[in-house]
Amino acid sequence: MSDLRLIPLGGAGEIGKNCTVLEQGDDLIVIDCGISFPHAEQYGVDIVIPDFTYLIENKDRIKGLFITHAHEDHIGAISFLLPHISCPIYGTKLTLALIELRLDDRWKGPMPKMVEVKPGAKVPAGDLEVEFVRVTHSIPETCALAIRTQHGIVLFTADFKFDFTPVDRQLTDMARLIELGQEGVLLLVSDSTNATTPGWGLSESAVTEGLRPLVAGARGRVLITTFSSHLHRMQQAILIAHEFGRKVVIMGRRMEQTLNLARQMEYVRFPRETLISMDEMSDYPPEQLMVLLTGSQGEPNAALSQMSRGEYRRLKVHEGDTIIFSTRPIPGNEGEINRVINNLVRRGANVITDAPTPIHASGHGYQDELKTMITLTKPFYLAPVHGEPLHQKAYKEMALAMGHAPHRIFVLDNGDPLELDEQKAWLGKPVTTGEVMIDQNEGRPIEVEELRARQQMAHDGIVMVTLAVDRDGTMVANPHVEAHGVCGGDDVVPEIQDMLRSAIGRLTEFEMQETDYFRATIEQQVRKVLQAKTRQRPKVLTTVLVTK
Ligand SMILES: [Zn+2]
Ligand SMILES: [Zn+2]
Repeated sequence: MSDLRLIPLGGAGEIGKNCTVLEQGDDLIVIDCGISFPHAEQYGVDIVIPDFTYLIENKDRIKGLFITHAHEDHIGAISFLLPHISCPIYGTKLTLALIELRLDDRWKGPMPKMVEVKPGAKVPAGDLEVEFVRVTHSIPETCALAIRTQHGIVLFTADFKFDFTPVDRQLTDMARLIELGQEGVLLLVSDSTNATTPGWGLSESAVTEGLRPLVAGARGRVLITTFSSHLHRMQQAILIAHEFGRKVVIMGRRMEQTLNLARQMEYVRFPRETLISMDEMSDYPPEQLMVLLTGSQGEPNAALSQMSRGEYRRLKVHEGDTIIFSTRPIPGNEGEINRVINNLVRRGANVITDAPTPIHASGHGYQDELKTMITLTKPFYLAPVHGEPLHQKAYKEMALAMGHAPHRIFVLDNGDPLELDEQKAWLGKPVTTGEVMIDQNEGRPIEVEELRARQQMAHDGIVMVTLAVDRDGTMVANPHVEAHGVCGGDDVVPEIQDMLRSAIGRLTEFEMQETDYFRATIEQQVRKVLQAKTRQRPKVLTTVLVTK
């Protein structure tokens, strides 16, 4: 029997770009294929995707791409993987519909084969078998995957919470989880996003009770910002608007497309006449309007950010507006979000990010829910993923406190293969992983050197040196030096010019004719002057013009 290998290519030690390989013998399946967002120093990077080298090297063995749910951190990178693979994509009806919507924007090639799987159904993938098990999360039709291998069942929880009053009344299939536990789960690969939070998270439907008094008490327009995929949150907001006689405008193409699709497919239900277009907004007084929009994470191009800067033509925020942030900040976005909030407050809006009643519920289970999953499924081995190291460690400590042996809990990092045979489990030799940074305008990856150059220019500026020499290596004009974004740049330019004149005077004719050597020597001297005078390391660019 071949060893079983689980390899996170993304999503371990981080929250984002989830992509995991499970393989045994000739069979390899890929679970999820998502993106993450860049950090502040990744200038010009729009999204980050996993490094697919391992999948490209093993593409002939890939039996399928199995998607647990339609969040961007699980589906956003599919269009970047499609050029390299030709296997079917498996997912539930809504998941596939939202993938297609996404591919319409980003993928110009032929549509991949999509296979709809109903929650509860099983799909063969070579000698592996993948069962979709419904769980509750913050998007409908999320499924855990129970994968039957030669060594036992690997249960991949996907993003989950135990919500007993979900908006769509579709509960986690706890009975099936218990059955799988009785049969014997070899390895539980669990969401650990909220492993540091004790207790049990709020039900999504509690948000209705939280939003209702805020909408009831608002005198002017109500703007609610959340994620464009948060269908149940949107449904709840629209029903509250209807209750208080408000019409709802959806701002943002992605949010509108997602909501329309889900309404047509009957995943969300609300009176159609409650929605109006942006053009109809002027027909209603402020107290009869609600706006749903994205931008809750401070994304600079989102309508909400533009409104905060007064740059959004179709809606100007003013006194009397109530703006509710119905999300929690994704770690790292706090600075941008606060900037947006403060600008909205400056414009006179009443901004609500927290309230005595809940205005947000996490889609990820808290500690007691994570423990419940372990108790129901009784795994032999445990591996927390979908969490930063802090969350993975908290999960491990929680499992240890429940009596699980330390050698059966694996805190994985991206690229670490967890290998299992009939007797034991161990960490194998790491495979290639990493971040591939995408500039969406270019639609291509940004090289590490390009990013380094951007960071260097952003931190310390750039100095450009142009030298003109004739074929004998004699200078034919004064060195031209420009400093951009260099602190004290104007003062340092004449010094660099003086230095260049004397340094070039010391070079032999032969050295000056060796253009590469000449350029490297000049750059080194320029850097020395800059460091001595400014203590900075700007990017130095030298152009040598050789005249006839
Ligand atoms: Zn999710
Ligand atoms: Zn996720």
